[in-house]
Amino acid sequence: MSKPETLSTFEFFRKFPDEDAARKFFEAKRWGDEPVCGHCGSVSVAECKDHKPMPYRCKDCRKHFSVRTGTVLAESRLPLQKWLLAIFMLTSARKGIPSTQMARELGVTQKTAWFLAQRIRETWLKDRDDHMDGQMQVDETYVGGREKNKHADKKLRAGRGAVGKTVVVGVRDEHGEVRAVVVENTKATTLERFVREHCKAGATIVTDTHGGYINLKARGYNHITINHTAGEYVRDMAHTNGIESFWSLLKRGYIGIYHYMSAKHLHRYVKEFSFRHNTAQIGTMGFIGMTIDRMADKRLTYKGLING
Ligand SMILES: [Zn+2]
Repeated sequence: MSKPETLSTFEFFRKFPDEDAARKFFEAKRWGDEPVCGHCGSVSVAECKDHKPMPYRCKDCRKHFSVRTGTVLAESRLPLQKWLLAIFMLTSARKGIPSTQMARELGVTQKTAWFLAQRIRETWLKDRDDHMDGQMQVDETYVGGREKNKHADKKLRAGRGAVGKTVVVGVRDEHGEVRAVVVENTKATTLERFVREHCKAGATIVTDTHGGYINLKARGYNHITINHTAGEYVRDMAHTNGIESFWSLLKRGYIGIYHYMSAKHLHRYVKEFSFRHNTAQIGTMGFIGMTIDRMADKRLTYKGLING
């Protein structure tokens, strides 16, 4: 496999030197050659000479529109070039990027940068809805907890429990694709629900000896258990190292960059990490393109984000 093309900041600005270049890129991604009315879907469209108030006018519904109309971009006044730069920054930073840094580099307030990043992350939330097949690793982990409680947490750790932390459960298949979600607890019903949603019936599931997985065989899966406490890490080539290395990346990002992720927003960051992980092979432009594709029909309001 050839190495995916990673764009430098210099190359980014050569590709998108101004707002016009950014707009044309968004338009080509969303429409191809032909503008489509964001209000009614008509392709009977006229281009407005001075682009005011918007670049296009629909001959059917007579409304003006732009590439933003009907997308998450519609309620933002931020130039499209800044949207692209924000996506680019989120793409390039493997461990994520704090909103203070994004604000500085984009020349916007921290609040604007935070909202921008959250709206971009929102496009990454949805996993493909097919089931994973073959042999896969399923594991759960704890993320978060307040800094001042860290030591207490360690002492309070009883078995798998950890005070003030959030549970994340994930699966990684043979191709390295990871899907992970925040769940409310590590009970068997919760973990089984995750497995049923993401793993094809009859597939081979490798887990450790956590009791939450005890019924997987009865649920129709080929279940392989690795006993970590007995020093057993690999059994017949089955292991859970892949998903565990994903957890350690997620936690390094948490500790090193975000410092504090509220439980409310943690699932977005989990999706950010898994989306970036799963798209590592498609290069910077592939990643930007896929994000814009997903933006096209997403509407997320500030209110929805705060209450959601
Ligand atoms: Zn129209």
